[in-house]
Amino acid sequence: MRPEILFPLFAPARSLPGIGPRLEKLVEKLAGTKVIDLLWHLPSGLIDRRSRPKIAEVRDGEVATIEVTVGLHIPPRTKRLPYRVHVFDETGEMQIVFFNPRPDYIAKTMPEGERRILSGRVEFYQGSPQMTHPDHIVPLDELKDLPLLESVYPLTAGLPLKSIQKAVRGALPLVPDLPEWQNGPWLKAQRWGPWRPSLLDAHAPQSARDVEPSAPARARLAYDELLANQLALGLVRLRMRRLPGRSIEGDGHLRWKVEAALPFALTGAQARSLAEIDADMKSQHRMLRLLQGDVGSGKTVVALLAMLTAVEAGFQAAMMAPTEILARQHYATLAPLCEVAGVRIELLTGREKGKRREDLLGAAASGEVDILVGTHALFQEDVAFRALAFAVVDEQHRFGVHQRLMLTSKGGPGTDVLVMTATPIPRTLTLTAYGDMDVSRLDEKPPGRKPVDTRALPLERLEDVVSSLNRAIAGNAQVYWVCPLVEESDEVDAAAAEQRYEHLHAVFGNIVGLVHGRMKPVDKDAVMARFESGEIRILVATTVIEVGVNVPGATVMVIEHAERFGLAQLHQLRGRVGRGGDKSSCLLLYQAPLGETAAARIKIMRETEDGFRIAEEDLRLRGAGELLGTRQSGLPNFRIADIEEQKDLLAAAHDDARMIIERDPDLESERGKALRILLYLFERDEAIRYLRSG
Ligand code: ADP
Ligand code: MG
Repeated sequence: MRPEILFPLFAPARSLPGIGPRLEKLVEKLAGTKVIDLLWHLPSGLIDRRSRPKIAEVRDGEVATIEVTVGLHIPPRTKRLPYRVHVFDETGEMQIVFFNPRPDYIAKTMPEGERRILSGRVEFYQGSPQMTHPDHIVPLDELKDLPLLESVYPLTAGLPLKSIQKAVRGALPLVPDLPEWQNGPWLKAQRWGPWRPSLLDAHAPQSARDVEPSAPARARLAYDELLANQLALGLVRLRMRRLPGRSIEGDGHLRWKVEAALPFALTGAQARSLAEIDADMKSQHRMLRLLQGDVGSGKTVVALLAMLTAVEAGFQAAMMAPTEILARQHYATLAPLCEVAGVRIELLTGREKGKRREDLLGAAASGEVDILVGTHALFQEDVAFRALAFAVVDEQHRFGVHQRLMLTSKGGPGTDVLVMTATPIPRTLTLTAYGDMDVSRLDEKPPGRKPVDTRALPLERLEDVVSSLNRAIAGNAQVYWVCPLVEESDEVDAAAAEQRYEHLHAVFGNIVGLVHGRMKPVDKDAVMARFESGEIRILVATTVIEVGVNVPGATVMVIEHAERFGLAQLHQLRGRVGRGGDKSSCLLLYQAPLGETAAARIKIMRETEDGFRIAEEDLRLRGAGELLGTRQSGLPNFRIADIEEQKDLLAAAHDDARMIIERDPDLESERGKALRILLYLFERDEAIRYLRSG
């Protein structure tokens, strides 16, 4: 239960002054639905109105606060001209300009002959100073209400700065004093203040330096956020470890058979990762391990060999893929190897229905099936295993911490979990997103891969590329042609792909196929199967092929509007080729002129195929929130912390969290109790549930 002291912060944002039903929606889009969301929405700059010149002293472009006497009003002759008001002081005169003012507004705010204080940006027009729409117009006795330093907030269309300022002004008095959760000496060493003053300061910058991440008030808040993140993950991890696991040890008889049947030897990285997994399985702790490896680094084999250990020990294993295509592909890869070893493997997806599904469920429940491969259908309620001891989750960056825990419930509390992701994640992010897991990295590619020849061409050369495909196809190549992301909409993407398909089909005829997200799974699979068999030579696709698809004969990857794709995505797509022994190429077709970031992405793509390096560069170019397609990524969204800029703070928070958990695993000390409040404050409530007296 959220502590009462935080209630005001979790009240709806609409309870704040000035936020009615209309603005509420915009505020939600900008910051969130709660008061605290608005408080985390920190200024991006400030307006300094402290300059108080006489009219003769004003400078072009400066924001000034000027005391004047209102002179003549000059209404416009036509509606399109502005309304002008002369003002003066003892040093000179200037004009105040209004476009389309409300009829009585000027008469009311600037009565002729009265003294007023105006604040706004001064501009020179034909040599004389003027001010268009002053930000503030007040009588002298209201000067004290005029904010000489004004915080500027990031905005969204339709939401005026003044509304946000007003809402934040209404929110700040609600901020309670909270017990200190940070370590005292550390705060002192960093020269950081307590939480409440820091938050208030962060909203009231005095200079441009105060809105930088390194400003003490902001750094403190960022550290709070990072600590909450690291502590929450640490607690989840601790809870996983507290649950009894099983010690699983195979005798190697199945694994030996499969290894003998493989046409290759394991790479060093595969062997190392497997040894790490073996050790986890053997230990009494339950395993929660992330296997991170670039596309084509050979994760599948590692997963299979690990699953065989479970089978050798008399248990079952399950492997879950994010899509139907992938589940089928895994099954197709694994089935022949399992057959060699006499291991029964089956496939269960949403498409296994009726009698077939019942049989499968029966076989899983009775233990006849050793390994069950499937989609999330595997974890539906009616699926039961006799003895599931090991679960593999492929391509997992689409799930969060929560789901990871849920998956394990199928096999009872002891189930070991191996999560595989083909998206290399920078170390800093691994820490923030997977801090609850142990990590193995496949950072070495299987031997014999030739580098993919990567080129960038402007879209005007598209027809040249089409003609060059003739040659490639004559030489037996297979081609992926990936169509641009038009919008975040399957429908629109599909339409673009269909158009390109028509175009290529007109040139190449029936050897062109099409696959996109709007197709029925059966139809998708049929097309993929025809591509795998070589019947289709050019596959026009949307990004549905991004994840995991393996067609070793494909050697050409064309990406249309490459500038619209993120770096991680480009890398994933390129990873679809260069899987066989033949030389492969990747053509990045871009719309000129390229923006700075897009140009940088394409440059990196040409420089390296190292997924881990690409991931680091991606983080540098984009900021963590956007990485991996944001929302789906399961990566935490930081409100204040900038984990690229504040790596050091993250590392410190990581160590800090570890120390806290070692000394006070249930957060029962004085500091521990304060830390609970911190977890609630940053909405890491789920972590609290894992405390003994949560
Ligand atoms: P990932 O799932 O990591 O993208 P896969 O497991 O699909 O990669 O492996 C890609 C290809 O590399 C597969 O064809 C696989 O048989 C092959 N492969 C895996 N390990 C090795 C190895 N040690 N040596 C040579 N080829 C390998
Ligand atoms: Mg894979």
